[in-house]
Amino acid sequence: MKKIILLLLAFLLPASAEIKVLKNFTLIDGSGGPAVADAAMMIDNGRIVRIGSAQRLTQPDGAHVIDLDGKFVMPGIINLHGHIGNTVDLTQNAQFYTRENIEKNLRTYAWYGVTTVLSLGTDQDLIFKIRDEQRSGRPTYTRVYTAGRGFTLKGGVGGMPSVTYNLENVAEIPKDVDALAAKKVDIVKVWVDDSLGHRPKIPFEMTKAIIENAHRKGLRVDAHIFYLDDAKQLVNAGLDALAHSVRDQPVDQELIDSMKQHGTWQSAATLTREASMFVYAKPPAFLTDPFFTRAVSPAVITTLSDPDYQKKIAADPDFPKYAGLLEMAQKNLKRLADAGIPYGMGTDTGPPGRFPGFFEQWEMELMVDAGLTPWQVIKAATKSSAEFLRAKDLGTLEVGKWADLIVLGADPRINIRNLRSIEAVYIAGNPVAR
Ligand SMILES: [Zn+2]
Repeated sequence: MKKIILLLLAFLLPASAEIKVLKNFTLIDGSGGPAVADAAMMIDNGRIVRIGSAQRLTQPDGAHVIDLDGKFVMPGIINLHGHIGNTVDLTQNAQFYTRENIEKNLRTYAWYGVTTVLSLGTDQDLIFKIRDEQRSGRPTYTRVYTAGRGFTLKGGVGGMPSVTYNLENVAEIPKDVDALAAKKVDIVKVWVDDSLGHRPKIPFEMTKAIIENAHRKGLRVDAHIFYLDDAKQLVNAGLDALAHSVRDQPVDQELIDSMKQHGTWQSAATLTREASMFVYAKPPAFLTDPFFTRAVSPAVITTLSDPDYQKKIAADPDFPKYAGLLEMAQKNLKRLADAGIPYGMGTDTGPPGRFPGFFEQWEMELMVDAGLTPWQVIKAATKSSAEFLRAKDLGTLEVGKWADLIVLGADPRINIRNLRSIEAVYIAGNPVAR
């Protein structure tokens, strides 16, 4: 009886205890439209219920009002290519995949303003429990979308024993895709690469079967690619997204035409992934940047500062190629963007040396270096990335959507590095601990 009365009270009490009003900020709503000065937003139980001019907003009694005079508010950043839970410091191992380590990664992303991440192919079943908890409530750390277990060839790129599907036979594919569909993965991941000739590449027939089976189950396929020829072949076969840039040569009109015809996305350009291949050959400037060091252990700083470690990086026989691969990835992103191909923002953070949060911030700087405007980059990392995820209540700040947002002290439209001026992050209206 007592329980019933309490339940009734919970329904009858005004919800205003949950109402937050943010006001007097400049609104960058993520849609790419003009910013709104002197804006205000009312958040009820984690969702935006009113947004617009501060003058026209009447705040209910008892609302928690936060004055953001002189600040900028934009949607939380969405990373369309991450790997969570498998890395501690500079070591990757599936045994590290615990709730504690997953949450640590998700809290780190959140601190840097990354409020949603698509984890691409290296997750164990624990992820579905965490995702379901988040989707049935109001998360306090970064939202996760997942491909579950990705596909590669046995011995191929991206394989993690007992985690990924390490294919030996095309006949395995239908039941594996069925298993992913039963777990309601958000997308299907496949690695199509030979690691600059060092590993066997999954044959086209297998990837084609993955695409056909995924589509049969209403799922899309996001592929790690490197070579232009693979990208063309897979896009022609109905691939839904490229999870990295083409890096062996410039993209051409044939690929652009096919991507347009098939509605294929450049979901992630992963420019920082390319940078991570060579940046540690010298002590990178960010090693002494508090914006970086706050989120990594002293052991990581010690290793990355070690001249022997730097020599080892530089001694990689492929090392001389890496800077050029970044340049190619940047040129290709710009070309696809100019051609009207839809693109999101994604980094490939999570594996050793690719640091969650800091690298999304850096990725957006490298996208500007590639020739995009800050405005385009912000839209890619918010509205467009949410569209890619088909996350209808994320990506822009509008009535009905989740209040996943970043409060900035400086205007990111003037300089993308102003994205670092984070003063607060909210996920579903919950302030992220900072
Ligand atoms: Zn990846």
